[in-house]
Amino acid sequence: MKKPHHAKEILDAFERHWGNECRPSPELKHEDPLDGLMLTLLSQNTNDKNRDKAFEKLKIEYPRWDLVAEAPLEKVIDLIRVAGLGETKATRMKQILVVLKEKFGNYSINDLQNWKAVEARDFLVSLPGVGVKTAACVLVFDLDMPAFPVDTHVARISRRLGWVPEKMAPDKIQEYLESTLPPKRFRGAHLNIIEHGRGVCSARKPDCKNCYAEKWCEFSKSLDG
Ligand code: SF4
Repeated sequence: MKKPHHAKEILDAFERHWGNECRPSPELKHEDPLDGLMLTLLSQNTNDKNRDKAFEKLKIEYPRWDLVAEAPLEKVIDLIRVAGLGETKATRMKQILVVLKEKFGNYSINDLQNWKAVEARDFLVSLPGVGVKTAACVLVFDLDMPAFPVDTHVARISRRLGWVPEKMAPDKIQEYLESTLPPKRFRGAHLNIIEHGRGVCSARKPDCKNCYAEKWCEFSKSLDG
């Protein structure tokens, strides 16, 4: 597969500026990887504040996942309601807990760390409500396994740089980046690109003149033309 053009130069430039590849990100790792998975599930269609509120309420009432598994569905729905889609999310949570108990004999995904990354990812996306991006976040941040989550910033910048076609879907972009970039750079490069998207290459007004990837960027070249 053809590599993204000037990938090394661009990732190096992002790293010089944002520095996430050589900086650990303990705040993104949860003590229990299953907390990370459930939090990501809660974050769908809501903001971080309401996601965290819902998670905190759930944890205060049921500090362990076996307690959530045994809790009445209505109670769980009520506790996480602030994050929206309460019924769907609570049902999925409980379904996931049933699968984990059957598969591992406990309410944990820690065993996935001993699996091959591709098998762990396939297992995670087979769980109710878990998509490719959610699985990648859990793999890279909670399980220390290689994955390159593609959120709105990573998708936009990959397209603007000319690494992928304009219409390529995020799941496909993730597949492409994971098969062409060095796995040891995934975590830090993902974080660098997000910071770049927030700080320089915004959706509405990219600041190309002050961008350290400008000389390699297809979008910027199209502006010059
Ligand atoms: S040159 Fe412009 S469009 Fe390209 S990455 Fe930089 S800010 Fe984004």
